[in-house]
Amino acid sequence: MSSRSKPDEALKQTIAEWVGQHADEMAQLLADLVAIPTENPPGENYRKCADALERRLRDAGLVCERVETEGEAACLFAEQGEGERVLYFHGHYDVVPAQAYEQFAVRREGNFLFGRGTCDMKSGLVAMLYAARALKECAVPLVGRLALVMVPDEETGGARGSAFLANKGLLGRGGIGMLTAEPTTGVIWNANRGAMTLRINVEGKSAHVGLQHSGENAFECMHLVVARLLELKREVEERQTAHNVGLANDPAEVTHADRKGPRNSILLIGGASGGGTNFNIVPDNCWFTVDRRINPEEDFETEKARLIGLLQECRRDGIRLTWEILQEAPSANCSESEPLGRALARSVEGVTGQAARFEMCPGLLEIRFYAARGIPAYAYGPGLLSVAHGPKEYVDFRKVRQSAVIYALTAAEILGAVQRV
Ligand SMILES: [Zn+2]
Repeated sequence: MSSRSKPDEALKQTIAEWVGQHADEMAQLLADLVAIPTENPPGENYRKCADALERRLRDAGLVCERVETEGEAACLFAEQGEGERVLYFHGHYDVVPAQAYEQFAVRREGNFLFGRGTCDMKSGLVAMLYAARALKECAVPLVGRLALVMVPDEETGGARGSAFLANKGLLGRGGIGMLTAEPTTGVIWNANRGAMTLRINVEGKSAHVGLQHSGENAFECMHLVVARLLELKREVEERQTAHNVGLANDPAEVTHADRKGPRNSILLIGGASGGGTNFNIVPDNCWFTVDRRINPEEDFETEKARLIGLLQECRRDGIRLTWEILQEAPSANCSESEPLGRALARSVEGVTGQAARFEMCPGLLEIRFYAARGIPAYAYGPGLLSVAHGPKEYVDFRKVRQSAVIYALTAAEILGAVQRV
């Protein structure tokens, strides 16, 4: 009989043993996946990677469905079990571009595997696939279905991946919960900020410096727009989320007098900018970006209207400007106390021996697509956020094995195989 606070010990042993016996195979699959450079942008080798994954999913005896989205891009659904209720394991197979081509050949140093995607998040895909296999091959009864969803394009907003599936009504059907294997550095992410990114273009009129009076300086006009944005920034960045965020507990990070802490809402001005042609020409064009990251407690539509309204006001005041929305994505916020959140936390504690901790993801996270449909969604994965996207990306393979066990135990509990007291 299982206790209130620990996963079923016998099941944990069975799954951990099975995963241990398949560790070499898992490491090999990770190396094979890393060797397919699914760099995004621009989104290369998607077909090759989807083919490789589909083959492995079918070999595992899962019922597999492939949804071609656009060009070479394809999403995979694979499932086992029967019934209406579905628990989703979700992950992406695209990676950010490599900083060195060697990153596409996995290098092993003891327990550590180096390479692009080892951390974000091909190791997570491997852990989820082997969790599903472990449940099947250890004959753990599931009441409902366990579905694996593998998508491309996560690194650029999901247009040919999750956003496509969501728009077609194909994401989260019958879902009672979702887990994704992003690199969470040992914590559980149950929320993410929303994002709205704009490129603002300010127009002027070109003239030689000696004839400045006949021109209109786009840089100086842009300055007026930036001044208004700074006022908005001062206001919104006073707001704080109640969620824990990454370094929130590191006092060194939050004591600087004028610097905001990780809980504060964000309005980044001028992440990229440009304009003009030379020092002696009145610029007829200047542009800059604005990246607004909206806490889950803020209302996305209100904040969007505020930002766009400010630009419209500048226009009414005679500043000639246009804007382009580069990305727009809502926040997500799932309660820690949903059955899936509790089951995941219990499994993390049971397997790692450490207390589970919930935090908000500092970036965008695909839990938002499921949360928007009312499906409790969480991220927990074997990698470290600090090495994802970097030149020395790696994963500790012991964490990949642990994650596979954690996913399997969580699914076993949520799909009713483990009866709790
Ligand atoms: Zn990722």
